[in-house]
Amino acid sequence: MDNSKIRKIGVLTSGGDAPGMNAAIRSVVRSCIFNNIIPVGIYRGYKGLVRKNFVTMQSHSVSKIIQLGGTILKSSRLPEFATDKLLRKMAIDNLREDLIDALVVIGGDGSFRGANLLSEEFGYPIVGIPGTIDNDIYGTDYTIGFDTAINTAMEAIDKIRDTADSHNHLFFVEVMGRDAGFIATYTAIATGAEATVIPEVHTSIESICTYMQTERRKNKTSGIVIVSEGSELGSAVEIAAKVNEILPDYKTRVTTLGHIQRGGSPSTRDRVLASLLGNYAVNALRDGKSGVMVGIKGGQVSYTPFKEACSRHNPIDANMLEIAKILSI
Ligand code: ADP
Repeated sequence: MDNSKIRKIGVLTSGGDAPGMNAAIRSVVRSCIFNNIIPVGIYRGYKGLVRKNFVTMQSHSVSKIIQLGGTILKSSRLPEFATDKLLRKMAIDNLREDLIDALVVIGGDGSFRGANLLSEEFGYPIVGIPGTIDNDIYGTDYTIGFDTAINTAMEAIDKIRDTADSHNHLFFVEVMGRDAGFIATYTAIATGAEATVIPEVHTSIESICTYMQTERRKNKTSGIVIVSEGSELGSAVEIAAKVNEILPDYKTRVTTLGHIQRGGSPSTRDRVLASLLGNYAVNALRDGKSGVMVGIKGGQVSYTPFKEACSRHNPIDANMLEIAKILSI
């Protein structure tokens, strides 16, 4: 495909917000300006496309946002976008009316499904940037927001450990991740958690209880079990209740970290990743690529078709789970 006549690029953030999205917007805007392309911000994701909520951006429009969590372009969810082709046509008509030649979509797998439809149905040039704390996108080693989220979770769990130690508590801490256990696995290693429950690995309540009952663990002054949302055993609240039925002597407590994992100033890693991917996305459109997500694999830029990026996620390294276990004996 030849996108060489691209003069205007739209950029939007969609779906779950993630720290580092602003750094990505900044990079897209400034990389456009560097390439003599006019950047146009689209507010509230696909809703803004349909409602034509567009604003031309300048270099100063993205000043002092690299350190901010959330997204200055706001995000939204528009479920009808998946089912209503007329809405999608309106979106493309709006873009064409304003002479916007191509689009950068910053979001997760749902957003890429939308982008895939737009690019397949209307032949419209679109490149995606993976922005989600869950790290559940195939085609990139890391997604924007993951590093900040695991640091936030780690700090919170360190604090929980202090109080757990003082009272001999067994804490079940639920972290985010949707159907992926990346946040749980990384924070489990980083906080020395006693056990981890993730969607990718079959676990039973009995095995958690047996594990907590070994001599060494029984002598510990506290215990932390990290539970990833989406686990087959249910939420941390449900798992704690079931464990307590088998081990009534344990003083169990539950904390669900929730949306604090989505907020906050992005880490250095997320700012750098977002800055690189924003630039790669603009260059990809300029060079005629479309229907792909830009990512970084093994230190190299990679391009993954939307369909592939949202059909699966990278497997959790089994080694990491084993090491987490070994180090908590
Ligand atoms: P994320 O991008 O973080 O995974 P969502 O799954 O909520 O977040 O998707 C964001 C938006 O993308 C949805 O509100 C919807 O507008 C659009 N979308 C999601 N799935 C599809 C689909 N199958 N087809 C078209 N658009 C979709």
